[in-house]
This record gives sequence, structure tokens and C-alpha cells, in this order.
Amino acid sequence: MAECIFCKIVEGKIPAKKIAETEHAFAFADIHPTAPVHALVIPRQHIATLNEVQDWSVMGPLFELAARVAKESGLEQSGWRAVINTGPDANQLVFHVHLHVIGGRQLGWPPG
Ligand code: 5GP
Ligand code: ZN
Repeated sequence: MAECIFCKIVEGKIPAKKIAETEHAFAFADIHPTAPVHALVIPRQHIATLNEVQDWSVMGPLFELAARVAKESGLEQSGWRAVINTGPDANQLVFHVHLHVIGGRQLGWPPG
């Protein structure tokens, strides 16, 4: 997807602070962190939203890498949150599926 900012990050065409990667997924620091740990985990292939997922096997590697990032960031005991915003009511801003890994402080619930 030529105009997708997250595709460009995966391809190394625009800079990002890489945290970890696998064959299927890429993790990097959110540019506007909302917590001491705020990573984004994305599939290498372009999928705009969860509504467009056809092959659900793409999602497993995202959660696997998210859990690894959380563990390696020291969040295993304190806790962390995995969030995927989908569409306008959820305030999805970037239309390439991404899993937020958020932790390092007490998080509010329910989300606003
Ligand atoms: P959404 O609201 O779509 O779930 O979240 C998009 C996230 O992407 C936001 O938390 C935002 O800070 C982050 N973001 C947007 N553009 C960039 C960018 O160019 N680089 C990085 N690292 N994060 C970005
Ligand atoms: Zn993309």
C-alpha cells in the first residue's frame, strides 16, 4: 500500500524505533506514547482494519510478538493491555491493523 505510513515503517522507508520483529510481525515504539511502555505491533502485510481480515492466522503472530514485547519490557507481573482500535468510534487513525501494547502504569477502565 503506497500511501500507508505503517507499510513504509515496515519497509524502512520512514524511521521508527524498532523494538522487535519476526517473519510475520513488526513491533516499534508509538511516536506519541500514552504510557511508559507503548509499542505498536503490526502485520508485515497491509490490512486496513480488523473488518478486512480474511485469513485469521495473521493475528496469532501479532499477539505472540505483543506478549514477547510485554515480557521483554518487564510488564509480565505488573500487567499490560493489548488494544486494537477499529473504525471511527474507536478513534482508529492509521488504517493498517496494529495492536497497541500499553503498560508501565495503572491503566483506567473502562476506556473513555
Ligand atoms: P490508532 O488510533 O489508529 O489505533 O493509533 C495509531 C497510533 O499510531 C497512535 O498511537 C499514534 O501515536 C501512532 N502513530 C501515528 N503515526 C506514527 C508514526 O509515524 N510513527 C509511529 N511510531 N507511530 C505513529
Ligand atoms: Zn499498510
